[in-house]
Amino acid sequence: MSRYLSERFASLEPYTPGEQPRDMAYVKLNTNESPFPPPPEATRAAARAAERLNLYSDPRLTCLRKELSRVYGVQEENVLCFNGSDEALLLCFMAFCDGQHPAAFADITYGLYPVLAKVTGAPFEVIPLKDDLTLNVNDYVGIGKTVFIANPNAPTGIALAPEEIRRIAQSNPQNAVVVDEAYVDFGAESCLGLLDQCENLVIVRTFSKSRSMAGARLGFVIAGEELIRDLDALRYSVNPYNVNSMTLAAGEATVKNEAWMHSCVQTICLNRAWTEKELKALGFEMTPSKANFLFVRHPRIGGKELYLKLKARGVLVRHFDRDRIRDFNRVTVGSLDDMKALVRETKAILEEIK
Ligand code: PMP
Repeated sequence: MSRYLSERFASLEPYTPGEQPRDMAYVKLNTNESPFPPPPEATRAAARAAERLNLYSDPRLTCLRKELSRVYGVQEENVLCFNGSDEALLLCFMAFCDGQHPAAFADITYGLYPVLAKVTGAPFEVIPLKDDLTLNVNDYVGIGKTVFIANPNAPTGIALAPEEIRRIAQSNPQNAVVVDEAYVDFGAESCLGLLDQCENLVIVRTFSKSRSMAGARLGFVIAGEELIRDLDALRYSVNPYNVNSMTLAAGEATVKNEAWMHSCVQTICLNRAWTEKELKALGFEMTPSKANFLFVRHPRIGGKELYLKLKARGVLVRHFDRDRIRDFNRVTVGSLDDMKALVRETKAILEEIK
């Protein structure tokens, strides 16, 4: 730490993203990326946009907001785009959390939430999940805090029904309720249908998973017009050209080709079912996942040991070295070849430690 750093950040522990190693080609199942590229017209659109990189991107994000509002059946005033959904989440903490509106989220959820709470100075409460890693909806009913819920949750993949989110939103009318739907396309039910009944609902989405654009950094929020205006005021105050023109062009082309996304999602869901079956046959236990990953543990091998042994064999999964989930690994569902490699190497490791 330099002596110039603001005291506010002296004890900040930054978020640790999943490894992106460059030393060798891994079967990469650690950061929930899509194994498929975006549709070819998206890369072409990005290349065309690159020819105009001398100009700023559109600060109003007009074309992409229009496409997204068409696909999701809302008005353009209900949509806003961000530099990844991480940026959307940061602006939600900035906009909707303070001493009067403390944040609340689960102990086991997306690890960025507590970091964003600290970096924005928002007071926050961490609410433990139940022993089976499900969320007790009653813990949030009438809590009077700005609730952040990943649905499906990460890293468990467990999803709540929109009805449960509705109870939380309607019982906390003085607070925004932020539902992070990063993984919703892989089989959970979206809360989009609740927007008319719940004016405090903020739905955060990403292009990084089902739309195969993690490297482009693109996320969006769908919410009531006033909430969107609040977020937009902050966006203009922090980074008015937050989405670059190549990403805007690629995003627009990707949204126009919903069939591409549906076909990728369908394959991932089939591969998830295959992997679940294979891993269960090897003795693994897992949470019921509606996401593009599985959260698995084996009675005969610790989470970290399995992670290290898989890594040595060229398969990268994500291990979280923290209480309650140390025995688990989060395994992204990739291509069938990826999953076959995972099962093959896991089998060999289990043989080895017999
Ligand atoms: N929310 C959740 C629950 C996530 O797991 C992730 C991915 N790390 C994100 C948001 C952020 O996604 P991105 O910034 O790539 O849109």
